[in-house]
Amino acid sequence: MEDVIIIGGGIASHSAAVYTSRAKLKTIVICGFEPDQLSLTTLVENYPGFPEGVLGPELIRNTRKQAEKFGAKYVEAVVTGFEIKKDGYEVKAEGKTYKSETIIISTGAKPRRLDIPGENKYFGRGVSTCAVCDAALYKNKIAVVVGGGDSAMEEALALVKFTSKVYIVHRRDEFRASKIMQDRVLKLKNNIEIIWDSMPTEVLGNKFVEAVKIKNLKTNKETTLKADGMFLAIGHIPNTEIFKGKVELDELGFIKTDRKMHTSLPGVFSAGDVQDHVYKQAVTSAGTGCVAALEAEWHIEKLKAEGKY
Ligand code: NAP
Repeated sequence: MEDVIIIGGGIASHSAAVYTSRAKLKTIVICGFEPDQLSLTTLVENYPGFPEGVLGPELIRNTRKQAEKFGAKYVEAVVTGFEIKKDGYEVKAEGKTYKSETIIISTGAKPRRLDIPGENKYFGRGVSTCAVCDAALYKNKIAVVVGGGDSAMEEALALVKFTSKVYIVHRRDEFRASKIMQDRVLKLKNNIEIIWDSMPTEVLGNKFVEAVKIKNLKTNKETTLKADGMFLAIGHIPNTEIFKGKVELDELGFIKTDRKMHTSLPGVFSAGDVQDHVYKQAVTSAGTGCVAALEAEWHIEKLKAEGKY
């Protein structure tokens, strides 16, 4: 029996583990094998306390080290089951069962993909889900951004500082993005061209991306845009599959939490991108990890005071 089981291996999990283990709670972090989003990033320039920036993988490694220093134990295993029991919760991972009265779910979210030919082949070779990370590599090059939300606007604005041309390809004839973000993009009409009612259908290239095929959804006409990069900004899919039907999710599948990171289940808290599709920042993930950890600690104290723990 653990005091706290933390599920996930990103900054929210490690930050929660720093707090729970420092509070002397028996903490286990089950962190899977897939790298978290920060581990795939290069320089993080907006995490407080690092005026020169910090490398994403280094930030992750150091936060985990900090949690381990206080006694958190890590298990590299994929969680395949989550069960509600009379006396707490059970988490199954790689044939083992872990039990606890408190759980912190911080399993993150993955960028949505288009699932078109060439997308996987050129992923990391021109196809990207993070223009903010890669923009500087596209000096004087041509980029295609896919999507019509605030992220797509943000990506286009990050890229336009470097590129010779940015195309935004959107499947409808109006953006979903906020007015202020749209206006910033639409003002730059010499450098950013909008292709409405369209979807990419194939990514073409040799070693790297060289072109993107685009189909107009109203006319079915296909054109080929010469491009060096395609940036996907079409939302995120939360990693909540194993919690469906057990923990309350919102209409997009993200875990519903209140301001104290409580989920619909007593003793189950959630932090990071799995419960946040708006801010999605390293610092907000770390912050919600901290809140979830403190709430888990107080939940245990309350159970102890009631003689139930
Ligand atoms: P989003 O608002 O859900 O927008 C996703 C966009 O991708 C939509 O335009 C959608 O088209 C399109 N899309 C979805 N699935 C697609 C598919 N399979 N193929 C083609 N296009 C597809 O996601 P987001 O832009 O990542 O923003 C998420 C949240 O973060 C929002 O609340 C946003 O306001 C916030 N955010 C804010 C800022 C900021 O204020 N600076 C920056 C980034 C994000 P439809 O419009 O047709 O559905």
